[in-house]
Amino acid sequence: MPPETKQKLAERAGKILAILRVEYPQSGTALRYEDPWQLLVATILSAQCTDERVNKVTPALFARYPTIADFAVAERADLEEMVHSTGFYRNKAKAIQESAQQIMDDFGGQVPETIDELVTLRGVARKTASVVLQEVIKPDGPHDGVVVDTHVQRLARRMGLVPSTWKNADKVERRLMEIYPREDWNLSFVLILHGRAVCSARKPKCEHCVVYDLCPRRGV
Ligand code: SF4
Repeated sequence: MPPETKQKLAERAGKILAILRVEYPQSGTALRYEDPWQLLVATILSAQCTDERVNKVTPALFARYPTIADFAVAERADLEEMVHSTGFYRNKAKAIQESAQQIMDDFGGQVPETIDELVTLRGVARKTASVVLQEVIKPDGPHDGVVVDTHVQRLARRMGLVPSTWKNADKVERRLMEIYPREDWNLSFVLILHGRAVCSARKPKCEHCVVYDLCPRRGV
């Protein structure tokens, strides 16, 4: 494929997103939650774990600790036991509890609503903050960034939105923010669904892909 101008790339990227939005109209996280705090907890637990597994763990967790204040004063060992099956349970329990304590101490018991404040919570990375903002706090924008996980990185590389050698999530995020207008910075939800359903890591099903004609990697 010959090198693309920035304008051609933006046009192609826009077409890809438009098609994927039609293909996955119910896009959004598969994590179950009832408020921003629950989504923050579920997102922390979802690192290196499937959403299905997290959804099995969180109902009992939120029943036992119904409020942020309850998480802040929970017995750490009990918290660890409850999230054990999501893996990395010590780090996750620590991140959840320290975030809860910080929210109680510094934010009046309310989950903060800006990315700059969210990332000050211990254990909350930019990706987690963006998920919470785009999904539940500010679903209609303005968006503060693009959620870049392994699916988004892989698809962005395969689709030629970023160079095929790029492995740095921050770099990929900045490039996607340049290519797409701000109202589209929530594109990750559909990319993730497409990555799970069709453009999988091991064996992409290119022959069934709705953006086949727009993808330089098709069939390769
Ligand atoms: S054509 Fe293949 S590589 Fe490209 S997005 Fe579709 S499944 Fe992925």
